[in-house]
Amino acid sequence: MSQSPSSATCGTVYIVGSGPGNLDLLTLRAARLIGEADAIVYDHLIAEGALELARPDAEKIYAGKESSNHSVPQADLNRMLVRLARSGKTVVRLKGGDPFVFGRGGEEIEALVDSGIPFEVVPGVTAAAGCAAYAGIPLTHRDHAQAVAFATGHLKDGTINLDWQSLARPRQTVVFYMGVGGLAEICREMMAHGLPADHPAAIVQNGTTRRQRVLTADLATLPAKVAAAGIKSPALIIVGTVVRLQSTLAWFPGAKAGSAEP
Ligand code: SAH
Repeated sequence: MSQSPSSATCGTVYIVGSGPGNLDLLTLRAARLIGEADAIVYDHLIAEGALELARPDAEKIYAGKESSNHSVPQADLNRMLVRLARSGKTVVRLKGGDPFVFGRGGEEIEALVDSGIPFEVVPGVTAAAGCAAYAGIPLTHRDHAQAVAFATGHLKDGTINLDWQSLARPRQTVVFYMGVGGLAEICREMMAHGLPADHPAAIVQNGTTRRQRVLTADLATLPAKVAAAGIKSPALIIVGTVVRLQSTLAWFPGAKAGSAEP
């Protein structure tokens, strides 16, 4: 942890993952810190009800960040964290899932390091782990996948720049975050790089919550099914033969109700 000459009066910034949505998946450490914080700077996709654990007098600041609507630019956010800590506050920077998985936790910490602000990182259940568990799709399985990759499906300049060759390997599960807008391109590229059209693929919307919906299909048919079902962000795309297990392993009511083929 960085120490600066002023750190005696400086507050600590806790970069806290809140898990994928279901409050029961918040860690004890996260719950404790939320309850102690003077200020909570929170994102769009934090666990439902997490802010209710805060002290009534805690300052709650919405930082936003939906894929198309970055409410507070990252640089301003970094400066805000530094300013709050320097005013002596205990700050919780509350994020969806895990701070180090597509959560920009690293970027925020770099700013804290540069400013000599003490910090701690609290891991959270990342959406891939949460959605996989609640949808009944094991990410690895000895009969199906010996590796799992997390990738961003976020479109930049209308295209997704990924190493498709390595993602389209057999016996591997690939989880795409932020991939709803780019779903058609994801499926097209995975097929263009060697996976068959009937390679299983699933989408999980609002995973782990009561609003969870799961759709299973294959690379050729998933985009049309997702469009027909009106599935929107936040949703996670899981590509791999592990998806075949879903029909027998689904246990969460949301997973079963939404998984029927349209
Ligand atoms: N740091 C987060 C990810 C942030 S990126 C984590 O570790 O989970 C935001 C993306 O995460 C969304 O676009 C979506 O793809 C995924 N996501 C987050 N919560 C989700 C949920 N409850 N269900 C499905 N996908 C989710």
